[in-house]
Amino acid sequence: MFIDSHAHIDGPEFDKDRDEIIQRAHDAGVETIIVIGSGDTIDVAHRALTLAKTQNNLFATVGIHPHDAVSIKQPWWDEFEQLALDPKVVGIGETGLDYHYDHSPREIQQDVFRRFIDLSQRCNKPVICHVRDAHDDAIKILRECNVPAQKAVIHCFTGTPEQATAYVDMGYYISFSGIVTFQGKNANPIREAVSVTPHDQLLLETDCPYLSPHPQRGKRNEPAFMVHTAQVVAKHANISVQALAEITTSNAKIFFGLTL
Ligand SMILES: [Zn+2]
Ligand SMILES: [Zn+2]
Repeated sequence: MFIDSHAHIDGPEFDKDRDEIIQRAHDAGVETIIVIGSGDTIDVAHRALTLAKTQNNLFATVGIHPHDAVSIKQPWWDEFEQLALDPKVVGIGETGLDYHYDHSPREIQQDVFRRFIDLSQRCNKPVICHVRDAHDDAIKILRECNVPAQKAVIHCFTGTPEQATAYVDMGYYISFSGIVTFQGKNANPIREAVSVTPHDQLLLETDCPYLSPHPQRGKRNEPAFMVHTAQVVAKHANISVQALAEITTSNAKIFFGLTL
């Protein structure tokens, strides 16, 4: 019924009860999970792929988080080339630009983002973009690299409706996380961004273990909680939850090239 398009369930936060959380996801209708193998080292990519290979409804992506762009070691690039060829790897990233934290120098984040985009194009797999307070530069890079329509997602979207529209006009997907459910006016622009995103460019995600949706906010997030996000996204997209489930599942299948 639903696909969680962005989950970090390979991480240590889930070591004690990973089987249970995958079962709970199934019970809640979140039948397929994309495990994002992107952290501070390439080990995270291997870990995500190893997990994805254990079950039919798990798939992996590979990358290095923009926070850690500065720590990339040269030999990892050859390893990423190899990893990207695996049929269970359905995307490249998350990669991108995070100018909110600036944990890595911006020029290095930009360079690494371009290299992962290049890899995604050579292996014909989509790119998962993490963009925070850096939309102008991200749009510029995606445009300069000629990333085709349907081959990029802006995950955990936190921009304005105008910024969402810029990506939509380029044919990219916008993925919404539990942030859309947060009470208070800070999340209003994100809810407005849902309203301006065409239904066939919407994706849903948890980004777990982070960003638990209301009313689970503050707890460790998990894929089953995505149903709360779906309710709010459906409301602002002006469709039923059932219709949202169908369209976002179809979108995710197209984006990740899943044959489920
Ligand atoms: Zn991210
Ligand atoms: Zn993430």
